[in-house]
Amino acid sequence: MSTAVSYDYIIVGAGSAGCVLANRLTENTGATVLLLEAGGGDRHPYIQVPIGLGKLQQHRLFDWGYSTEPEFHLNGRQLTVLRGKVLGGSSSINVMAYTRGHRGDYDRWEREGATGWAYADMLPYFRRSESWENGEDPWRGGSGPLSTRWARTPDPIFDAWREAGALAGWPSTSDFNGIEPVGFGRSQSTIRNGRRASASAAYLRPVRKRAGLSLRTGATVTRVLTRGTRAVGVEFVRRGATERADATREVILSGGVFNSPQLLMLSGIGPPVHLRDIGITPLADLPVGHNLRDHLAVWMMWDRKDAGPFHQEMRIDRTAVNMARAWLFGAGAGAVLPNGLLAFLKSRPDLDVPDIEFMFRAAPLDAHPWFPGWKSAYQDRYGIRPALLHPRSRGDVTLRSADPHAPVRIRHNFLAEPEDLVTLREGFRHARDVAYRKPLDPFRGCEVSPGSKVNTDAEVDAWIRNNVLTVNHPLGTCRMGRGANAVVDSELRVHGIEGLRVVDASVFPDMPSAHINAIVMALAERASDLIRGHPPLGASERLTIGAWCCRWWLAAAMGRRRCHCRGMEARILRAPARAATPQRPCSDPRVPSSGSSS
Ligand SMILES: Cc1cc2nc3c(=O)[nH]c(=O)nc-3n(C[C@H](O)[C@H](O)[C@H](O)COP(=O)(O)OP(=O)(O)OC[C@H]3O[C@@H](n4cnc5c(N)ncnc54)[C@H](O)[C@@H]3O)c2cc1C
Repeated sequence: MSTAVSYDYIIVGAGSAGCVLANRLTENTGATVLLLEAGGGDRHPYIQVPIGLGKLQQHRLFDWGYSTEPEFHLNGRQLTVLRGKVLGGSSSINVMAYTRGHRGDYDRWEREGATGWAYADMLPYFRRSESWENGEDPWRGGSGPLSTRWARTPDPIFDAWREAGALAGWPSTSDFNGIEPVGFGRSQSTIRNGRRASASAAYLRPVRKRAGLSLRTGATVTRVLTRGTRAVGVEFVRRGATERADATREVILSGGVFNSPQLLMLSGIGPPVHLRDIGITPLADLPVGHNLRDHLAVWMMWDRKDAGPFHQEMRIDRTAVNMARAWLFGAGAGAVLPNGLLAFLKSRPDLDVPDIEFMFRAAPLDAHPWFPGWKSAYQDRYGIRPALLHPRSRGDVTLRSADPHAPVRIRHNFLAEPEDLVTLREGFRHARDVAYRKPLDPFRGCEVSPGSKVNTDAEVDAWIRNNVLTVNHPLGTCRMGRGANAVVDSELRVHGIEGLRVVDASVFPDMPSAHINAIVMALAERASDLIRGHPPLGASERLTIGAWCCRWWLAAAMGRRRCHCRGMEARILRAPARAATPQRPCSDPRVPSSGSSS
C-alpha cells in the first residue's frame, strides 16, 4: 500500500450528491478535498446528448450492473437495477426529469425525526441549486449551477393526454415544481444548451481546476479506515494497486443507495449478526441497509394509428444528423426527449400528498433507428405508466461476502404489503380511464399492453406482478433520524462514529412524491452548509411560504383556485370518478420487454 496523502475532506463517489459537495466544500474555504470515483469520465456522446440515454440503458453503459434477488411477490422475477458508475453517477445516465415533490413530503420527514429538513428548509436549497429557464421567483432558482427547462417535444399527443386528464376530472398544474405540485403538468428537464445537465456538468466540470480539489477516477473505495470510533481515512483500489488517503476533518460517503451501505458494512458499521455471518468484526450496531424503498410502475402501451414525430426522427439518416447536431451544437431533435408530460395525483381526497404518478411516453420501449432495406421501422406506440409513489413495502441491501468487489445483495420486496397492489391497481384503472377519453381517439390503435384480456381485479393484479418494474429511485438504506431505525442524525453524521457522514439518496427517510435527483442535489447543498458550519438557509422561506399559503387559502376559499397548503387540498380537490371501462376493439396482449426508468 502506498503512503497516505492527507486531505481535509474525502468524498466517496462523484454522483449527484458527491459533485455538489466537491463544488461547495472547495468554494472560498481553503479546504482540501479528495473526490474518489469508481467510474471514469463522462464525455461520451451518449451521456452528453439527451437522446443517447436509450443506448445507455439498453447496453447498460457506465452502469454497476446490479439486479435484484428473485422477488418473492413478483413470481420470482429478478429486476434490472440501473446505477451510474461514471462522473455524475446516476445523474449521467438518468432520464433528466426535474421534479421536487410535494411540500408535505418534507414536512412529514421533519415530523418523523429529520429535524431541519422540512419544506421551508429545503426550498432555499432547491432554489440555490437551480437555474430555471423562466428565471427566479419565490419557488424557482434563477442563477444556480443546475440548468432546468421545459420539455420541448413537438408531439401533439401530450396535449391530447392533458385534455383527456381534464375530461376525467384530474387537475392540471402550470408548474408542478412551483406552488401547485398536484396535477397534470408539462415536464421539465435538467438540460443545458441541449446537453444533459448532470451533477458533473453542473457542479464538477466548472470547478475541476479549483485549488484544493483533487479528483481520482477509476478509484474504488473498499473501506473506511477508523481509529477507535473516529473515521480517519479510506482505502481504495486504483489501477490494481491499493492506496490509502487520510481525512483530517471528515470522510463523506456519497456512493449512493447501494454502495454507501456496502462501504459502511465493509467497515464494520451495520447489523452485527449479518456482519459476523460474513466474517466482519462489528464496530457499531446500526440498521445499515434496512429501509430500502423505491418507486414501482407498469407500462401500458397502445399502437399509434399514425407514426409520431419521434418515429420520423428515428430513421437512421435523421438520427445520425440529429446526434451530430445535438453533440456539436446542442440543437435539433437529438436534444429533445419523447416525454412531455407528468402527472402527480391523489387517488383519494383525504391524502396529504399524491400517491400516484403517471409518466407519459410518445415512443415504444423498443424504439430503434430504422431505414428501409436496412432495418424495418418499428410499430409506433405511446404509453402511460402509473407509478406507486409511497410504497409501504421495504427491502434491504446486504453484503454477499466480505469481498469489497462482490456486488451487494438487493431485495426490494416489492408488493410485500397488500396495500401497495391495491393502490397500483387503482392507478392502473385511472390510467386506462384517461387513455380511452375522446382527445386520444385520433392516436389510439390497439391496446398492446396489457391488452383487452386484462380486466378483472385478479387479472390486473396478476399482470402487475408479472410486469412491474423499478423506476430507479431507490433510497433510504442509511436512513436519517433519531432512534433505533436511524443510521445518521439530522446533520447526516453516522451515529456513534466521529468524522463520518453519509450524503446521498440513502439518507432519505422515505419516498417523496417525485423523481429524486433534484432532491438529492438540494440535500447535498444543505449538507454542504452543515459541514462547513454555515448557518442553514430557511428562516425567510417560512415567511414566504406562509404568505403564499394565506393568499392561496383565500383564493381557494373563494372557489377560485385549488390550495396546496397542508390540510387544505383535501377539502378542495376530489379524486375524479372513473368512467365505465370502454370497449377496446383490439386484442393483442404483449408486454414491454424493458424500460424501467423515470
Ligand atoms: C436509469 C435511471 C433513471 C433515472 N431517472 C431520473 C429522472 O429522470 N429524474 C430524477 O429526478 N431522478 C432519476 N433517477 C434517480 C436519480 O438519478 C438518482 O436517484 C440520483 O442520481 C442518486 O444520486 P446519489 O448521489 O445518491 O447516487 P449516484 O448518483 O448513483 O452516485 C454515486 C456515485 O458513487 C460512485 N461510487 C459508488 N461506490 C463507490 C466506491 N466504492 N468507490 C468510489 N466511488 C463509488 C458511483 O460510481 C457513483 O458515481 C434515475 C436513476 C436511474 C439509474
